[in-house]
Amino acid sequence: MVTSDSPSFVGGDLCLDFTNTVDGSRDGEFQDRVTSFGDLVEWSLSAQTIDRKEFEEILGEAEKDPEEAARVLGRAVKLREAIYRLVRAEDRNSPGFRSDLDVLEGELEVGLSRYGICQTATGEIQWAWRRATTLEALLGPVAKSAADLLSSDQMARVHVCGGPRCTWLFLDTTKNHRRRWCDMKTCGNVAKVRRYRKRKAEESS
Ligand SMILES: [Zn+2]
Repeated sequence: MVTSDSPSFVGGDLCLDFTNTVDGSRDGEFQDRVTSFGDLVEWSLSAQTIDRKEFEEILGEAEKDPEEAARVLGRAVKLREAIYRLVRAEDRNSPGFRSDLDVLEGELEVGLSRYGICQTATGEIQWAWRRATTLEALLGPVAKSAADLLSSDQMARVHVCGGPRCTWLFLDTTKNHRRRWCDMKTCGNVAKVRRYRKRKAEESS
């Protein structure tokens, strides 16, 4: 749950943070924070999957080709919703799961083409993303993050926020595995205030 216009990164994993660009319930009342290609580029900059120079270049390219920008936005939303369902799925043998996996696989095929090894200034070899030069390049890091998470034992630590109107996902990395809220400052605080009011009401009755 958010209380400001700036993107929030409390999910503990890039792909979860991307699914958290929807506030409220996907089945009911919700607010989507990625409704334009500009929103998608802004989010990517905030998520640090692109730097300021890539941000400017990609926005420039999008201005030249608004149709491609609209297509990539559509793919981004499709990928985001597929990730949300994949992560929450209880039945990994359902046709829905398989078709969401196809969406992810399709984006991985395109996205991973710019992921490879490079040599650092000190001579070390490491995996890295090559510069993002196309509009669709924004989707690669999110798709890879989802594939990494889905294929890891961290999946058991992914939870939905306990807030009454919040469906944000987070990776519980706390030692005692008892994290319940997307963010203590928002949903956690609402719960704290509720408990306090309930206690006060019980005391005075
Ligand atoms: Zn929440």
